[in-house]
Amino acid sequence: MNAPILVINCGSSSLKYALIPAVSGQPRLSGIAERLGSDRAILRLRNLQGEKTTIELPGASHGDALKVILDNLGSCRPIAIGHRVVHGGERFTQATLIDQDVVQDIRETTTLAPLHNPANLEGIAATQELFPGLPQVAVFDTAFHQTLPAYAYRYAIPAELYERHGIRRYGFHGSSHAYVAERLSILSAQGRGGWIIAHLGNGASATAIWQGQSIDTSMGMTPLEGLVMGTRSGDIDPGILLHLMHQCGWSSHDIDQLLNHRSGLLGLSGLTNDMRELEQSAAEGHAGAKLAIDVFCYRLAKSIAGLSCALPMLHGLAFTGGIGENSPLIRARTLTYLTHLGVHLSPNSNGELSHGMEGRIDVGRGLELWVIPTDEEGYIAVQTRHLLDNMSDTPASCHPQEVPA
Ligand code: ADP
Repeated sequence: MNAPILVINCGSSSLKYALIPAVSGQPRLSGIAERLGSDRAILRLRNLQGEKTTIELPGASHGDALKVILDNLGSCRPIAIGHRVVHGGERFTQATLIDQDVVQDIRETTTLAPLHNPANLEGIAATQELFPGLPQVAVFDTAFHQTLPAYAYRYAIPAELYERHGIRRYGFHGSSHAYVAERLSILSAQGRGGWIIAHLGNGASATAIWQGQSIDTSMGMTPLEGLVMGTRSGDIDPGILLHLMHQCGWSSHDIDQLLNHRSGLLGLSGLTNDMRELEQSAAEGHAGAKLAIDVFCYRLAKSIAGLSCALPMLHGLAFTGGIGENSPLIRARTLTYLTHLGVHLSPNSNGELSHGMEGRIDVGRGLELWVIPTDEEGYIAVQTRHLLDNMSDTPASCHPQEVPA
């Protein structure tokens, strides 16, 4: 199967897409539609030469944006569509061919991800209408973490809450962690050993990997638990929430806004959630920016050290995501807290690696330290392709076929 896979990632008001060719490393058509459903909706497209075009689409829905994307695919027609779906609960442990039962199961998981799964379902509905007969595959952020043992995924709250309401840790960023783990197994002589991967973007999570499987991760039932993020708090004492509700009269809406949108790097710095801007402001002496960077790095190191308990043997660490791939400062600052684990950073290699470069940043002894640019879209395409290749009894209606131009 050589033709490309269209990968779709729908947010509540955004839609990212990439057309992934069968041969890795070839250029991709890609783009993002933002502010969908508003008068200011726009679509930014990137062609195979990397040139960018912006199209204004006032009032456009996800489906409207997809129609314009389809028009701009030209002669590059996909043979299948891979959808990023944020929450698969315990039902989905791997990429799954979408049919009506699967749509219903994703809908039932919406209680666990009310902000994300409805948007993913909207994307699935829109592509089903636009590409009838084309196989559609759901690739779940949570699926890679379904290998966590119970002692890692259970919260210390009454068992009934898990049994009746599915309240447990699920973990996220699965496609990114799985992709980086796969790269490490190819690049490192340690292969499928013990690794901790730090995915640091606007959302951030760290995962302990043993022999290619996730065995613990920093995010929980929702993507709010764990590390300090752009605008999310990560771990805080749950007693603070009780205090705000009981002593200060805060509503659940106030708390949601606080934890998801006003905290993290933005809340600590009082300035921005953007790490590039924080680094610049810290260098100019801004106290809030310095503190935000300090807390971010210390908490990340603490999480990495904690996750190391999950592994029989730790062979190395890997950084990925916008911050992990591009910020020598954050990597170096975090690693200063981890010398007891056998970290020996090469300042030269660390300083040189950014902008999509892959490589090692240790001095050649102790833990292996890697920077690995993530490729979630590529991973979703590979999962989609594998599933279709392995379906020996694919129903006729699901056989890959060209879409009429
Ligand atoms: P998302 O989770 O939205 O996909 P990204 O993975 O693109 O986010 O990461 C965005 C973050 O990466 C932002 O905080 C941005 O400032 C940071 N970033 C990007 N380039 C750099 C850089 N050169 N130095 C420091 N931070 C960077």
